Amino acid sequence: MSPEALATTPRVDRASGLAAYAADPAASRGRNHPEAPPRHRSDFQRDRDRIVHSSAFRRLEYKTQVFISHEGDLFRNRLTHSLEVAQIGRSIARALRLNEDLVEAIALAHDLGHTPFGHAGQHALNDCMKAYGGFEHNLQSLRIVDLLERHYAEFDGLNLTFETREGILKHCSPQRALELGAIGRRFLEKQQPSLEAQLANVADEIAYNNHDVDDGLRSGLLDMDQLTEVSLFRECLEAVHARYPGLEPRRVQHETVRRMIDALVSDLIETSQAAIDDQRVQSPDDVRQADQSLIRFSPEMADQAHELKVFLRENLYHHHQVHAVMHKARQLIQDLFAAFDSEPRLMPERFQRHAEQLAGTDPHAPQRAIADYIAGMTDRHAIREHHRLFDLGTLT
Ligand code: MG
Repeated sequence: MSPEALATTPRVDRASGLAAYAADPAASRGRNHPEAPPRHRSDFQRDRDRIVHSSAFRRLEYKTQVFISHEGDLFRNRLTHSLEVAQIGRSIARALRLNEDLVEAIALAHDLGHTPFGHAGQHALNDCMKAYGGFEHNLQSLRIVDLLERHYAEFDGLNLTFETREGILKHCSPQRALELGAIGRRFLEKQQPSLEAQLANVADEIAYNNHDVDDGLRSGLLDMDQLTEVSLFRECLEAVHARYPGLEPRRVQHETVRRMIDALVSDLIETSQAAIDDQRVQSPDDVRQADQSLIRFSPEMADQAHELKVFLRENLYHHHQVHAVMHKARQLIQDLFAAFDSEPRLMPERFQRHAEQLAGTDPHAPQRAIADYIAGMTDRHAIREHHRLFDLGTLT
């Protein structure tokens, strides 16, 4: 870097080696239940560790991302997806000198609230809950880390820092923001979240767009020819063919997807750093006041990423074979909800008690407890539960 460039670079570094605009665990807004600081790790590392040790995290292994888990062992599930988000997020965080531990904590927790059967499950549960405040996986992730994990002696939930919780709550209606208090305030005041939260959000998008291409090809629901209508895929595929003529298809596929991830990540790092420098962002507070997200793609790459997203929506998520499975999954969730709603004693006692505990604070406590129970199920737990309740053959 030239001396001139150095003179105009507004970044001020901390002793930690992180940029001055990175989230600082020592300046955390704290936890709902005050705790002594950890002795040998930062508060964000403690958050990450608590998430990894939670039951909800282990359940991610058996929750559908796009493909139902028993359709094949090599497809992504919510656990491997969350690990990919964390890995992509950490790489970018290091390049931008942001707090990697916070990005990782948010990435590993971001999908904890997903129902079984992916978006079909969420839509079905949201329909069932329409008259009772609705269901949204993003809010459910927060509910898990704030309330539903019950393993600690001194508090419900994981008692995470404000910064990790804020990162988990990606979006939220004004009404819900009001109810949530401090954590919802930024939605009402139109402030940005930390750069680490912004980054975890984009890393999620990079991860799923690319692994869905990979899984789509592996499953045979997508083919290479069809994907060449997506400019980012086409450019990367051409680069692979030019460099390795005659390469076997499986390796071509992997080389193409890895180039796509690399192109997106590199563009994101360079564009975001330029935006941070341009706006002379010097502190986490400056980040909050910015008029838009600073972690972003260049306009050209944003167009390419959008094109890929639209392609996947039309050709993979709406593929008739995916629809057929999801149609059944929707029915299954509706059946379970209706059964528990008409007879709460069909639920395990723990969730019957949970409904009683919610009664003081939630006007729709019985239904919210059912939603908490169903949302926590893995795909196979939901299928087993449906057999148990509806398969008359098991009576004999
Ligand atoms: Mg995700």
